[in-house]
Amino acid sequence: MNVQIPITILSDEKGYFDRECPNPDCLYTFKIKMQDWQEKVSDEEVHCPMCGHVDTSDKWWTQEQITAQEKIAEEWALNYARQMLNNTFKKIADSTRHNKYVKFTYKPYRTINFRNNPIGQREEWETEITCEQCGTQYSVIGSAYFCPCCGFNSANQVFFDTMERIAIMLDTLPGMRAYLEELNNRDDADSICRGLLESTIGDIVSAFQKYAARRYEILSGTDNVRVNDFQIIDKGSQMFRELCGDGYDKWLTSDELVYLKMLFQRRHILEHNSGIVDQRYIDQSGDASYNVGQRIVVHERDARRLLAIVQKLGEGLKLLEKH
Ligand SMILES: [Zn+2]
Ligand SMILES: [Zn+2]
Repeated sequence: MNVQIPITILSDEKGYFDRECPNPDCLYTFKIKMQDWQEKVSDEEVHCPMCGHVDTSDKWWTQEQITAQEKIAEEWALNYARQMLNNTFKKIADSTRHNKYVKFTYKPYRTINFRNNPIGQREEWETEITCEQCGTQYSVIGSAYFCPCCGFNSANQVFFDTMERIAIMLDTLPGMRAYLEELNNRDDADSICRGLLESTIGDIVSAFQKYAARRYEILSGTDNVRVNDFQIIDKGSQMFRELCGDGYDKWLTSDELVYLKMLFQRRHILEHNSGIVDQRYIDQSGDASYNVGQRIVVHERDARRLLAIVQKLGEGLKLLEKH
């Protein structure tokens, strides 16, 4: 027996449809505009916005949707079985109605009309993204890396999300420190928070490098751009100037540029020399506040200033066009 059970799937109020990545290591849940799912997404290839897993379009049911479907199928089967029983017994009852030796009376089950409960969606989510490449609209909690329809990796999205996440991290740092002091002791709290601040510098720099390299790739139409070229501020600036006519000084003051270069150098020392200042650092950064052998200290204000400058520069690069 081949049965088709009609199940209605409704989008949420904003028109989104819940989906879940079938990769067992991921199971990331996201939303996609119902209309885009029906009209744009291919049957062969759906991309997970988080892990980039690619699978056919029939694999992306969320746990809630599977449970709801099973419940509907179960009710349908039960209802179907009851009707079969009703019909069978009714036939026997009918055929024996005039038989004077055997008498079947049969009181049918009350027929339950089968109604699908439409599979509703979860409450609306925060981050709505429109793919720069194919226009598909999707929604995620936090950040995502790939368009579910075309797999496009939005460098803009990732960069600005990362900057926002770091800003939030900096805002929660005092609270975190107080909590850690209560939980452990002052020394531990201090070293954990110091570690977090230092890694923030690294996160900002590496997010910028990747973003700048991706912008350069898009603007130049090449795909063999070296991310490390954008570790050196003057070099990256020069590359954009040659390509588009504008260097970083279009958006940043000379003070900001000096500060940016210094923090990029400090990050290098933190990452590759355990934060210990060497002569090369002093020569390249022009930073007079440290002697050779001292250790770099990162303050919250440093991270905030670096973040603000990098964000400003990122906004500039976003608007850049090839000339
Ligand atoms: Zn995934
Ligand atoms: Zn897309």
